[in-house]
Amino acid sequence: MRPRELSRYLADLGWRDPLALPIEPSAALTASDSGPTFESTDLDGLARHLLNCARCRLSEKRKTVVFGEGAPDARIMFIGEGPGAEEDRTGRPFVGQAGQLLDRMVIAMGFQRAQIYIANVVKCRPPGNRDPKDDEISACSGFLDRQIELIRPDVIVALGRFAANRLTGTDKPLGALRGRWSHYKGVPLLSTYHPAYLLRTPADKRKVWQDLQMVMAKLGESQQSTVDS
Ligand code: URA
Repeated sequence: MRPRELSRYLADLGWRDPLALPIEPSAALTASDSGPTFESTDLDGLARHLLNCARCRLSEKRKTVVFGEGAPDARIMFIGEGPGAEEDRTGRPFVGQAGQLLDRMVIAMGFQRAQIYIANVVKCRPPGNRDPKDDEISACSGFLDRQIELIRPDVIVALGRFAANRLTGTDKPLGALRGRWSHYKGVPLLSTYHPAYLLRTPADKRKVWQDLQMVMAKLGESQQSTVDS
């Protein structure tokens, strides 16, 4: 186990960190102060909890809750904004046109979709694909936080402004956030443009590829430190 993983593990058990490595308080399995506490110890339990969610107005018009999908032990977690029409119909994240582009990005990184995890900041479709509102994002934040705690990816990629702002805790424009590492719950976080934006602005695909290369390099580092330890 890598030193930082050991520290996180001990923090989760409620131990003081004997290695004295800097650990963000939220790296421990504690409730986020940005949303309600969810005690589910597995993703299926959390998904069942979400099925009946009526914490915000998005529950009134949704067809299906879109919890998220992918490998429970994924090394990369992509976090988007919220379901669109196709996702609302099928209950699966990123299955429309933007999802097809995301699939191609994932394959270009050398992964299959089944090897990663995909979730959204809000789990129910904002009517007419409008932007999610702050109170809707807050109402869903406990679910997203618990997903991250359960998956514990090596890297989080925030897709688009809403995910980037929610996870960095800033309201900076995406242009100022992309291409720079930060952390969320002790996990390295990189923000980049949303695939739906790339469909409208293909010239920025180059910048996204640069960002994804940073993600691949980070994954390589964390793989190497596992081998070395
Ligand atoms: N856009 C998103 O942000 N999420 C989806 O699941 C689909 C499109």
